[in-house]
Amino acid sequence: MSSEVTTECLVIGAGPAGLQASYLLHRAGRDHLVLESGQAAGTFFTRFPRHRQLISINKVYTGWDDPELNLRVDWNSLLSDDPELLFTGYTPRYFPTADDMVRYLGDFAVKNDLPVRYDTRVVSVTRPDDFVVRDQHGGTYRAKRIIVATGVSQPYVPDIDGVEHAEHYYDVSVDPQDFTNKRVLIIGRGNSAFETADALMETTSVIHVAGPGSLKLAWQTHFVGHLRAVNNNFLDTYQLKSQNALLDGHIKGIRRDGDAYLVKVSFQRVNEVIKEIRYDRVILATGFRFDASIFAPECRPQLTIKSRFPDQTAAWESVNVPDLFFAGTITQMRDFKKSTSGFIHGFRYGVRALHRIAEQRYHGVDWPSRSVEPAADAVTEAIIERVNRTSALWQMFGFLADVVLTGKDGSVRYLEEVPVAHLHEAVARGEFGDVESYLTVTLEYGEDHDKVNPFDITAGRTSQDDTSGLDGRYLHPVVRRFRAGELVDEHHVTENLENEWDSETVHRTPLREYLR
Ligand SMILES: Cc1cc2nc3c(=O)[nH]c(=O)nc-3n(C[C@H](O)[C@H](O)[C@H](O)COP(=O)(O)OP(=O)(O)OC[C@H]3O[C@@H](n4cnc5c(N)ncnc54)[C@H](O)[C@@H]3O)c2cc1C
Repeated sequence: MSSEVTTECLVIGAGPAGLQASYLLHRAGRDHLVLESGQAAGTFFTRFPRHRQLISINKVYTGWDDPELNLRVDWNSLLSDDPELLFTGYTPRYFPTADDMVRYLGDFAVKNDLPVRYDTRVVSVTRPDDFVVRDQHGGTYRAKRIIVATGVSQPYVPDIDGVEHAEHYYDVSVDPQDFTNKRVLIIGRGNSAFETADALMETTSVIHVAGPGSLKLAWQTHFVGHLRAVNNNFLDTYQLKSQNALLDGHIKGIRRDGDAYLVKVSFQRVNEVIKEIRYDRVILATGFRFDASIFAPECRPQLTIKSRFPDQTAAWESVNVPDLFFAGTITQMRDFKKSTSGFIHGFRYGVRALHRIAEQRYHGVDWPSRSVEPAADAVTEAIIERVNRTSALWQMFGFLADVVLTGKDGSVRYLEEVPVAHLHEAVARGEFGDVESYLTVTLEYGEDHDKVNPFDITAGRTSQDDTSGLDGRYLHPVVRRFRAGELVDEHHVTENLENEWDSETVHRTPLREYLR
């Protein structure tokens, strides 16, 4: 195939992010094309997670009939106007299988008639003037801008002496019988590591899971990439003395010793004492990275975080290659290990915000907004209505904000789901018009939210009816006022166990007073 295809926007990758971007471009009537190396949408999920269970929850029964609220506990659906295209309709399983995801993404692409070319692997991206992209068949594509949604397609291999002796989560056998009565070391402390340990617990003699730093639990840190309860059975087998153990330290070296391996571990708890431990199998579960190798030097994106992710501006644009944007899990460098950009239930909103940024920049289409009466009552009601419904601010806590813009003419407009960092820059550039001042509305966990054991009743808590006190550990709305990009003041709406901020005395009145 040699003819050149020209389009306004190329999307590389038909995973959840690429499909979300294509859906929004399609709905806006924008000329674009999606190039996917796999034979189907969601190719990543045909292989990963290796043990086939997703950790993104699929809560089918909520007691709510509000689709926006339901998205708070549906972590797999892409954003669309079609209620038939909700992931919750695909399986009742709370933790669905990766195969369910492949089925869902395939339907999402077909039912929306998205312009995806499968079996089309991008092998090079150059930029003589426009971007010129080549695929493995010699096909050529030309575009003014590119959205890269290629995910983390390569294993991340840490710099350890003898690391070549280790197998990788990426392609290690998932047949527990292959590890019968074996001593296994798993290097890494993310969910892939514990998912693997979980799968091997019945057949192995010993499993050690090793990594530096204190183990972080998602229910404590509120970061869903930290160890999830669904993957932590292993901790029982460690603390209840069933031969398995966590090793808190660095792996210094791996060397062959007959049919086995001797692994040098430096233990952080005991002054880095180094011990050599014998294992039959060593598995690396040390994460994944973005693949920048397809980009020619003139348009190769700068990388960040141990070169694992493309470095991006607040508008998800490459910091060094204009018109090159990123979508999906590779945008997690923007809120690394804090909010949810690494996961579908986070980046689906990121892709929508990126679409609105591109509509503004390339098509002069303003960010959607509605007018609000310029009065404290009306603004209070607008904010209260949103914080009690929004799934975007709920999932992307502290990262996406609703915005109340007050113009120099006194008019007030309400915008939804603007990335906080982008907002400040865009207001300064005049992209939101003549702004006298603006409010950001976010949902946030407060200071030390990850320091306290939430199950320890001696930790106590401030009464949720106490307007003077705020137990910031819990997710709550925060309203901040800015003038000329400077923070003027802020108001924290008292947290509430049910996350319903609609009490007149506890929530509305204090907010109204703040807004007067
Ligand atoms: C082990 C693991 C488990 C995870 N589990 C979950 C989970 O349960 N729930 C969740 O929400 N998130 C999960 N994630 C995080 C993340 O959501 C997924 O990584 C998700 O797949 C990201 O979507 P994406 O669209 O950004 O990238 P991907 O789904 O990886 O899609 C990228 C697409 O680009 C294609 N592609 C790559 N390179 C090229 C190229 N050169 N040319 C053309 N096409 C190309 C790929 O074939 C792929 O289809 C997990 C991540 C990992 C690593």
